[in-house]
Amino acid sequence: MPKPFKRDKPVRKRKWDANDWDTASREGRSKRVDSAPEQTRAPKDYFTDCEANGVVVSPYGVLAFAMCGDEECLCRVDEVLVDGKSSVLAPGDRVFIEHDERGPVVRAARPRSNKLSRPAIGRDREQVFAANVDCAVIVASVVRPAFNPGLIDRYLIAAQAGGVEPIVCINKIDLASEDPEGAAVYREIGLSVLGTSCETRQGLDALRELLSGKCSVLVGHSGVGKSSLVNALDPDLTIHTQEISDSSNKGRHTTSASRLYELAGNIRIIDTPGVKQLGLWGVTPAELNYYFHELAEASAACKFRDCTHTHEPKCGVRDAIESGAIAKARYDSYLRIRTSLTEK
Ligand code: GDP
Repeated sequence: MPKPFKRDKPVRKRKWDANDWDTASREGRSKRVDSAPEQTRAPKDYFTDCEANGVVVSPYGVLAFAMCGDEECLCRVDEVLVDGKSSVLAPGDRVFIEHDERGPVVRAARPRSNKLSRPAIGRDREQVFAANVDCAVIVASVVRPAFNPGLIDRYLIAAQAGGVEPIVCINKIDLASEDPEGAAVYREIGLSVLGTSCETRQGLDALRELLSGKCSVLVGHSGVGKSSLVNALDPDLTIHTQEISDSSNKGRHTTSASRLYELAGNIRIIDTPGVKQLGLWGVTPAELNYYFHELAEASAACKFRDCTHTHEPKCGVRDAIESGAIAKARYDSYLRIRTSLTEK
């Protein structure tokens, strides 16, 4: 029997727990992500339990930059790891590199512990932009470009689907005196939320502390300041950044490929190209509920086990919205993403 929903209490004010998704699954209300339908799963046989002597820094078509010992080298990639015109490798992949008469070759890659991915543009295939990371830093900016909660929600889903712990970093806090509208909810659902400025250097020590000793991936809209953050964390590094175009405030794609950087202070970071929209890989409309933890909790009070929270009577989620226990913005985001998944 579902637990009765207590309307007088906020639904969720506890620490974000990446395992919540598994907990929901174990209760038998949905399938695990890694048992997603066969056709949406990444081909597993590319990866083998090989010995690893290198790490992929940045894939480059059928080649890849990789760290082998202390040196970065441009490697050919064995055809067993190539799909069409590019390899299946991603920054962070642990690989076995061999040297033949023509130079270094990536011969094999180890299975990934986790990943961040999306559907490859124009192809029914997964595009992994970071593998084997300790956390995903979802970077947003207060303004220029405008704070975009819908994109944060999509990255939160992608992080959970790939088994990566997310944190939210709100950059450019020098440009506004308050948190942008819609930011508070991320603290309320238990996520770590940091405010930073590459201009005033506010929040950078906290970010450095959080990332130290880890390999993280920076994701977010183009122009929010991902490359600037990497540069600010290690002044010895100078990644190219670009001015925001004044007319649109949208920013441009300043980073064209994901790339792993080793920074001072034992920080490893994968910088990724900015996106305007993020497609979701391996997420079905029926599962979507469970990626919105506060909705998943409230859904225990739904009359129907397969309630979609869109129109059904006695819906715990819509009751929670009405009582103010769940932020309407997150529910609206759920509805928008659900529609986009249904229309696919
Ligand atoms: P990316 O596309 O996310 O990598 O963004 P960039 O790092 O290229 O930054 C885009 C623009 O925002 C550049 O003009 C940066 O100088 C500017 N920028 C980055 N961080 C900040 C910040 O904290 N404050 C302000 N005012 N501008 C910033």
